[in-house]
Amino acid sequence: MALNINLPDEAATLALAASVYRCLPPGCLVYLHGNLGAGKTTFVRGCLRGAGYAGAVKSPTFTLVEEYALADRALFHFDLYRLNDPEELEWMGIRDYLRPDATCFIEWPERGAGLLPEADLDIRLEIAGPARRAVISANTGQGRAILALLADG
Ligand code: ADP
Ligand code: MG
Repeated sequence: MALNINLPDEAATLALAASVYRCLPPGCLVYLHGNLGAGKTTFVRGCLRGAGYAGAVKSPTFTLVEEYALADRALFHFDLYRLNDPEELEWMGIRDYLRPDATCFIEWPERGAGLLPEADLDIRLEIAGPARRAVISANTGQGRAILALLADG
């Protein structure tokens, strides 16, 4: 099962992200797929806004990871676009980020292939002319439960 959602404008991406975030327990791992400019970082910003975080949301393109301390959990936002070698994830202590009280979003997860666990949710963002499309699929029991919640509205 996969959810297909049309996103006519940035506000729609932010709103989808906020509703996905509401269904995400801490401890979830979410992969964000899509080309440059597809809206991956926008999606994480929508999650953070949904969580009540009003501060700046920077793209972790150069830092690899940005950390946010939310009321009930930590949120880690990775962008692995500039990762040269998946081994760099070992050196940065990736296992310390993927913990049960943290929610992790990873842009360009394929750059970390072999060193990242399977995601609970895969979110694919596609450029559709001036708009975007999202396809959300699940890989784990927890992911399927989230997808069912989302499908119920
Ligand atoms: P990525 O992280 O995938 O490289 P960004 O989120 O940094 O992409 O940038 C996405 C760009 O597309 C931003 O300029 C944002 O305003 C715009 N955008 C996001 N969602 C939509 C949408 N549904 N329709 C049109 N433009 C969008
Ligand atoms: Mg980005």
